[in-house]
Amino acid sequence: MRRLLAAAAGLAISAAFSAGHAQTVYPIDRADILVGARFDLKVEFPGLVDPAKISVTLNGEDHAKVLGKAADFVEREDGKDQSALILRDASLAHPGTYKVKVTDGTQTRELSWNVYDTAPRKAKNVILFIGDGMSPAHRVAARILAKGIAEGKALGKLAIDDMPHMALVATAGNDSIITDSANSASAYATGHKSAVNAMGVYADRTASPLDDPKVETISSLVKRRLGLSVGIVTNTEIEDATPAAMVAHVRRRAEYDRIVEQFFAAKPDVLMGGGRANFLPKGAEGSKRKDESDFVAQFRDAGYAVALTGPEMAAAAGNPATSKLLGLFTLGNMDGALDRKFLKGGTVRKYPEQPDLTEQVSAALALLSKNEAGFFLMVESGMIDKYTHLLDMERAVYDTIMLDNAVKLARDWAHARGDDTLILVVADHNHPVGLVGTIDDDMSSTPNVPMRERVRIYERAGFPNYPAPNAEGYPDRVDVSRRLALFSASLPDHYETFRPKLDGPNDPTVAGREKDTYVANERYRNLPTALFRLGNLPALANADVHSGEDVILTATGPGSERVHGSMDNTEVFRVMVEALGLGDAKAGAQRTELEPKR
Ligand SMILES: [Zn+2]
Repeated sequence: MRRLLAAAAGLAISAAFSAGHAQTVYPIDRADILVGARFDLKVEFPGLVDPAKISVTLNGEDHAKVLGKAADFVEREDGKDQSALILRDASLAHPGTYKVKVTDGTQTRELSWNVYDTAPRKAKNVILFIGDGMSPAHRVAARILAKGIAEGKALGKLAIDDMPHMALVATAGNDSIITDSANSASAYATGHKSAVNAMGVYADRTASPLDDPKVETISSLVKRRLGLSVGIVTNTEIEDATPAAMVAHVRRRAEYDRIVEQFFAAKPDVLMGGGRANFLPKGAEGSKRKDESDFVAQFRDAGYAVALTGPEMAAAAGNPATSKLLGLFTLGNMDGALDRKFLKGGTVRKYPEQPDLTEQVSAALALLSKNEAGFFLMVESGMIDKYTHLLDMERAVYDTIMLDNAVKLARDWAHARGDDTLILVVADHNHPVGLVGTIDDDMSSTPNVPMRERVRIYERAGFPNYPAPNAEGYPDRVDVSRRLALFSASLPDHYETFRPKLDGPNDPTVAGREKDTYVANERYRNLPTALFRLGNLPALANADVHSGEDVILTATGPGSERVHGSMDNTEVFRVMVEALGLGDAKAGAQRTELEPKR
């Protein structure tokens, strides 16, 4: 056993050693590539090379012959002693294994790509629901609150659970076992792995966040090959990673101004969420743009109805003249269901007319279904993630219920049309959140017992006593005497109060004295139930962090039978393109008609 381990370790070391000195090639080894989908081929040589000695072949043939054009040679990338080759907008028309061989005369690298086609189209529409950071504990808590539980059996099923097909999806990126929402959404949108903070690109070594080798998004593919409409709906800032990854190609997710420009270039038919600040010209109240461009005006001039409130959105969606809609309901993130519907915390008083995610989905479906060719729609319940980072589990669970309501609405809509729509529900990554029991906060019976001793585990946990849910599945209060105990296993230093934050979202940390460090927010220190909890993360973490377990994918509708067992996140893209027949030879013929001359 010991000998075997030593041999395996030796192998791993030699593989790592040679990889560090050979060329880096994008798309990466073992990439799955849809026939006809565009990608940029890039080769990064570790040093300066003589272009006369370079050869890049695919299955033994020169790349220029197979890809229709030769890659450009860059002698010194970023002014450093490093050469590169780049070929933009390549594509491969025939399925099969492509053996890629790169040599500079001394070093040689071999890798392979799997290029796949698809059977004919099965689904008219595809709706991809993403619960950002939605973990199994969020689901179970949402089920208990929204459906109730008696004698151990749930009194109903969530729409997100009650689907015929389910799989576990692995989420690692090509740089790390832990993903963020940019590269995970990018894997869904492009079928390619990427790196933390990157979307629609492979993250290369150059400094610019805008020159990285691109891979085509599903939004682009469905528009140019099938003429479908595209909708992007969220309750975070619309420039945030998950919605942005549906169209954007950028190495740094924080490039909000560039992302707005890429939204405008891509022109999704429906674009809704928060994040108005980066659409407004510098100098306008609340603007975060660094230039004078007014993208609200530009979208309006391009034929979009613009809605800044829920009622404006509903009116625009109900107007037969509306074909495209831009909805920007807040400057930053929108507020979650618990604040909007019950507590009025967060920014609800400033923006009292924000729509619910279900209303956004209704409006999107009304507009997108006008296109006889069909549509692709991504809907994100994005604040599940933000609240979980803040260790605010009540708010995260209420937004999981909201996601469930939105899925229920879409499923009912699809069912009424004869189930012509593939509906997928998936998280993009987990948080290490556990449902460990209940918290007994009945101070009248045992006034002197500290909160930690009131965490009820195993048989003592019993069942919580939230009021029966209202028609939308929400109990009308969360500060009951026996609550769900949901704890994250990844912690910054903070004060645990064991109680829901009724005045607004939790704010566990503040900036520390040293740069890029965070410490516990003293605001909670003197609350009667507060307990200082020493963190288990480095001081640069201001919050709970993502975790690397597989996420749950559920699916219904045509093409959903492809969802089963253990899958990689890049395969979620493949499920969608197979349902839409995007790699069908006939779709390719249609593409030539639709594709604008470039
Ligand atoms: Zn996150």
